[in-house]
Amino acid sequence: MSISDRFAELAHIRDSLGAVEADPSRIVMEKILSPTEALIAGKRTILVGTNNYLGLTFEPELLDAACAAMHEQGSGTTGSRMANGSFAGHAALERDFAEFYDVPSAMIFSTGYQTNLGLLMAILRPGDKVVLDSHSHACIYDGCRISGADFLAFRHNDPEDLRKRLRRLGGDAEGALVIAEGLYSMLGDIAPLADLCAVAKEYGAWFMVDEAHSFGVYGERGLGLCEEAGILDQVDFITGTFSKSLASLGGFCVSRHPEMQLLRYGSRPYIFTASSSPANIAAADAALRAIRTRPEIKDKLWANANRLYDGLKGLGYELASTVSPVIAVRVPSKEEGARLWNALLDEGVYVNLVLPPAAPDSAALLRCSLSAAHSFEQIDAILSAFKAASAGSDRAVGASAH
Ligand code: PMP
Repeated sequence: MSISDRFAELAHIRDSLGAVEADPSRIVMEKILSPTEALIAGKRTILVGTNNYLGLTFEPELLDAACAAMHEQGSGTTGSRMANGSFAGHAALERDFAEFYDVPSAMIFSTGYQTNLGLLMAILRPGDKVVLDSHSHACIYDGCRISGADFLAFRHNDPEDLRKRLRRLGGDAEGALVIAEGLYSMLGDIAPLADLCAVAKEYGAWFMVDEAHSFGVYGERGLGLCEEAGILDQVDFITGTFSKSLASLGGFCVSRHPEMQLLRYGSRPYIFTASSSPANIAAADAALRAIRTRPEIKDKLWANANRLYDGLKGLGYELASTVSPVIAVRVPSKEEGARLWNALLDEGVYVNLVLPPAAPDSAALLRCSLSAAHSFEQIDAILSAFKAASAGSDRAVGASAH
């Protein structure tokens, strides 16, 4: 097999994106101007696809903490915690997460992806049973796959379907692992966590929730949707990432089971990769402090989400779910999605273009993720851009309102 044969499938994906002139890998942020603006192709562009939910990436407290950590501890750790040892900041951040969640055990990993991989690869054995939401993120599927466990999906956000699948497992349901997310990143819908948890517990299964998109955004204290659903004392494992609300790079896992600490001795994505850099740890720590002490940031995010949601509804767009910081506009075809995405860029607005198979149940999504750092003026400019981008389309504005 030649090298071009090996890469033929990937070339096909690139070419099909090129055919609709919508290859997001071509987008280069030439200059980042703020948490919500960048220069793209020389044009000042409002960013509405960043996952920078709390808008903390330029917050002076984070920048100062990250710069100080870099000066004091260096630019990188140059190895894994098992081989090279932990820096004091790693251990302190784990203590902060454990304290924030009021649990005996927290561990941090180098990315959110590795957190899920690291947990699942360590706790699952070949033959174990996993029942996961069908819309689960790739790293949850990958962790299950690599572990050798038997995994099957329940219908997205459907506790009754979960019940059916657990019932069919018979005696194997006891000790099975049920996995859901909090806020789903593509459609922006939230999981019925209290119901899912109750079903899992009824069958003696463990319950794991990935709060990658909901940590810092939901719950009175910002702990996420498990807090909002009132199940913090029942859920077995909560994972999350530093790369969204926490404006850094890394991931965390917390558990009410103290045994979770033992992951350090067997989790390959923890052991065989370099630990997070001092700057990443310090920024995440400062962001965690902001979540704990400045609830008004979260309130601003919600005000922005409501304003964009109402505005898009008013323009006649079909939105994928109820209001949340992820607002996905359904577009009837891949071609129309690509056309609108390019037209929005021309208008100075960057959203995420989501095409099948990443767009569940629909032809294409224009995914908007809000930030607390957006101003109302920017939200109104985003709405004007949607209006202008839709002009000339016979399917967009108003078409889905009837
Ligand atoms: N879980 C979910 C639900 C995600 O959406 C993502 C990333 N988008 C991750 C985990 C991985 O996080 P990270 O990008 O920090 O590796």
